[in-house]
Amino acid sequence: ADYWKSQPRKFCQYCKCWIADNKPSIEFHERGKNHKQNVTAKIDEIKKKSIEKAKKEEKMSKEFAAMEEAAMKAYQEDMKRLQGESVITVVL
Ligand SMILES: [Zn+2]
Repeated sequence: ADYWKSQPRKFCQYCKCWIADNKPSIEFHERGKNHKQNVTAKIDEIKKKSIEKAKKEEKMSKEFAAMEEAAMKAYQEDMKRLQGESVITVVL
């Protein structure tokens, strides 16, 4: 147990692994092929996610616009109907 206490460790979020928290170890780890691949993969994942998010938001805004249009049409229909009714009232 003392071994872990005396060895401060740093967590690499890209590789999901622990490395010794000292400059040579960190540099060695960051120069590693595995780490570089993991960093690239992470960046690709973030890019992919942000593209997906943008697409989702675009879809949502389109759906919202369609909803708004439908509401506007319904409102116009109501107005027409109300106007028609009031015309009838006037005629009567
Ligand atoms: Zn790493």
